[in-house]
Amino acid sequence: MTDKSIRDSVSILSGVGPKRVDALNELGIYTILDLLTYYPFRYEDLTVRSIEEIEDKEKVVLKGPLISDPVVSHFGRGKNRLSFRINVEHVIVPVTFFNQHYLKDQLHAGEEAVIFGKWDAVRMQLSGIKILSSARNDGKDNREPVYHTSKHIKQATLVKLIKQAWELYHELIPEIVPAFLREKYHLVSQKEAIRMMHFPKDDQENEIARISIIFLEFLVYQLQMQWLRKQHKLADRGNAVQYDVKKLREFFKSLPFELTEAQKRVVNEISKDQKMPIQMYRLLQGDVGSGKTVVAAAAIYAAWTAGIQSALMAPTEILATQHMESFSEMFNDLGLNVALLTGSTKAAQRREILQQLADGEVHAIIGTHALIQEDVVFSDLGLVITDEQHRFGVNQRKVLREKGDNPDVLFMTATPIPRTLAISTFGEMDVSVIDELPPGREPVATHWIRPKQFTQMLPFVFKQLKNGSQVYVISPLIEESEQMDLQNATDLYQTYASKFEPDYKVGLLHGRMSVSEKDDVMERFKRNELQVLVSTTVIEVGVNVPNATLMIIHDADRFGLAQLHQLRGRVGRGRKESYCILIADPKGETGAQRMEILTQTNDGFKLSEKDLEMRGPGEFFGKKQSGLPDFKVADIVEDFEILESARNEAALLLNQSTFFTDSTYQMLREEMGMDEAARHSFLD
Ligand code: ADP
Ligand code: MG
Repeated sequence: MTDKSIRDSVSILSGVGPKRVDALNELGIYTILDLLTYYPFRYEDLTVRSIEEIEDKEKVVLKGPLISDPVVSHFGRGKNRLSFRINVEHVIVPVTFFNQHYLKDQLHAGEEAVIFGKWDAVRMQLSGIKILSSARNDGKDNREPVYHTSKHIKQATLVKLIKQAWELYHELIPEIVPAFLREKYHLVSQKEAIRMMHFPKDDQENEIARISIIFLEFLVYQLQMQWLRKQHKLADRGNAVQYDVKKLREFFKSLPFELTEAQKRVVNEISKDQKMPIQMYRLLQGDVGSGKTVVAAAAIYAAWTAGIQSALMAPTEILATQHMESFSEMFNDLGLNVALLTGSTKAAQRREILQQLADGEVHAIIGTHALIQEDVVFSDLGLVITDEQHRFGVNQRKVLREKGDNPDVLFMTATPIPRTLAISTFGEMDVSVIDELPPGREPVATHWIRPKQFTQMLPFVFKQLKNGSQVYVISPLIEESEQMDLQNATDLYQTYASKFEPDYKVGLLHGRMSVSEKDDVMERFKRNELQVLVSTTVIEVGVNVPNATLMIIHDADRFGLAQLHQLRGRVGRGRKESYCILIADPKGETGAQRMEILTQTNDGFKLSEKDLEMRGPGEFFGKKQSGLPDFKVADIVEDFEILESARNEAALLLNQSTFFTDSTYQMLREEMGMDEAARHSFLD
């Protein structure tokens, strides 16, 4: 079997037909290697426990002989219950399984059973989850991997497939990190690491495996980034944009406000990049409301004075439309032609815009993913800006960039990444920070209440509405289930509607709505036809409604601090005093502290640093919204030290010419996609 490859499709495994292939693909698993590197996100402790030491609602393993044969009873529609009792250290424990009557065959009076279930300390009974083979009580650490699953694929299936893949293919797992580095950092081989992740013998193995994989992930990431940056830094690749300084000054004069010192500094950094014959590769970071839009506008304007086109891509239609509105206002009378292109642009209009874009009549285009379609052609694209860049795939950004000839690239993000982190993470790209808010901005007064205080809060909401202000209500994203998500939002909507209608109109916005439905609701909120807007976070509330002065966030402890801060940034945009109410019943000390911190500061950077101190790592960035690259195991905050090591090693490797030729590094070169590193790099 010499033609076997670790990149074989998973369809080669027995028990994997077309349906299962689809299900695996959904999880991002295409090849055997994908499957083997689909790591558990936690482990279930399956050590047999003693009744005295376990707590209410804990998931535990209990062991003991069955006192009698199990009994199955049927109730409701097709529902059944399997009950029996076991003798655990002379305590009789009732055990119940729901809808798993088939387990009956494995259970017999007098025989010992090992049951994993949820403990009810009040009734002293166990609600069964599964039956374990009795071999479990060998005194060793008993951990079972738990994988992220989907609707179409179960835990047990993944376990089985991974086992099968391991047995058939483990010899073919490639070694990527060179031996001398593994020795230096006490890492195990990739093959060992994979085994230890899926089938760890003990805690220690698991820890070594994690560190080894984290190092690998960071090393490849750092190599890609640093190498890419080297390429970009090569002179003569970029364009020297000869913009018109006088006209640029006029642009600033035409604004209804003066730039803050921070904005001025950042504008200078950007225009310097533009003027130089290198390709700009810059991250623009600024807290919500810090005024990034006008900075982007200045860059677009400068490019225009040099006869160069610009494109700005935003992650949602609502955001793109809003940018369009700000830009048209700013560029109105200045001769700069700006157009909007999104998925809902009508065919005839789209054709016209594309024509004008190709002819150079449209000078700047704002849009969504619609911008990267093949027939979108520019006459001379020299500046590409992406807003909230992490929301786009690497390829999408690349496609847009390649519509120009080495255009300048500017990424914008509102994620307040702490300084120390930014250096390691984005060290290879230039970073500009707007660390100051426009003057006269009142901080958003933030309060934290418990869910049971909901009714007490209502008079305050009424008061805001009576004053003519509008209110956002955020229902939390339930990651596990879109369905629950929608249900939650709908319930909240009904609650608010029952309290405030008909005096005030309440609207609902959620992820299952079509683009035009969403836009419609948003428009009505903007026009103040709706006074209260209940929304899930799936919806970008990144809209500017200065008349909204109150933001209520339900189950606030479900969000990362950064996300809460961004949500809060949606109010406090006008002159009126603004408020944010966090409703949460956080578990534990840290949860409470996180809520407290938000009530104390409005400074995103301070927040992020404080949070880093407090050590709630992934928590700060939230899982999905991080703005940081996705790793399978590594966490940029938590594993910061490993990131630093990997960064140093990457720099050393790239500085030695043998790295590009020596066979020691071949797997590493392959892994980083050297030939097409650009395509694989996060920051491309
Ligand atoms: P963000 O950084 O969140 O994208 P925006 O660019 O949307 O922030 O700016 C937020 C608001 O502040 C906008 O209404 C904008 O017109 C206003 N703004 C930006 N810069 C200034 C400034 N220097 N002085 C006063 N207002 C400003
Ligand atoms: Mg913005």
